[in-house]
Amino acid sequence: MKKKPKYKRILLKLSGEAMRGKREFGIDPEFISYLASEIAEAHKLGVQIAVVTGGGNIFRGVAGSKRGMDEATAHYMGMLATIFNAMALQDALEQKGLVVRLQTAIEMKQIAENFIRKKAIRHMEKGRIVVLGGGTGLPFITTDTGAAMRGLELGCDAVFKATKVDGVYSDDPMKNPKAKKLENLTLKEAFQNEKITILDKAAVELCMRNDLHIVVFNIHKKGALKKALMGEKIGTVIR
Ligand code: UDP
Repeated sequence: MKKKPKYKRILLKLSGEAMRGKREFGIDPEFISYLASEIAEAHKLGVQIAVVTGGGNIFRGVAGSKRGMDEATAHYMGMLATIFNAMALQDALEQKGLVVRLQTAIEMKQIAENFIRKKAIRHMEKGRIVVLGGGTGLPFITTDTGAAMRGLELGCDAVFKATKVDGVYSDDPMKNPKAKKLENLTLKEAFQNEKITILDKAAVELCMRNDLHIVVFNIHKKGALKKALMGEKIGTVIR
């Protein structure tokens, strides 16, 4: 009998960093096309997928406020940046033949549906990919927190955090060569350990309080998302 995926419905968090591929800034259409094929492969397994896009490749609220902008305004600009990315991803997914619904937390009626929880669930049940832009629609928080929130309200089995490293390390592997990869970790450990910064603490706290698992994996490795969905030992599972 064909092996079934370990997860039925997931919330995939793609940060702005993933959208910029090898570029310093902005959107890399080639890399987004690669991301779309990875998502398409995962979708073929029958897994329901909602994606939350970040915006750090375009604009971060904190960076704007450090340069003297009104902080809330800067955060709203950050949310708009996530919608740029969401539109680019929608386009790339549609080009792979997938049916996609873009929903935003800030009303954008010419280009997207409003985020409506039950509608998003229905889309996924019908085999559509739901791309969620605009974070939570509220300033002063990040799309990691938004991803945890949407993961919970959409009844996802886990939040899949796509990164450029193979999982969670005991320290920043880019800075400390002695950092060790942690294959399994509890949500409590991830929340309490200050060196673990792969997701912001507010997001981890939300997952911890509601027992929503987090899978951290390297999206740059072809097939990693699919393998992680099949329950193979890929990345780090925080449970
Ligand atoms: N943002 C916000 N509320 C949200 C989600 C995002 O204010 O619910 C703003 C925030 O300023 C953030 C920016 O949007 O810096 C871009 O999102 P994020 O930094 O989380 O993107 P990523 O790091 O994933 O690229």
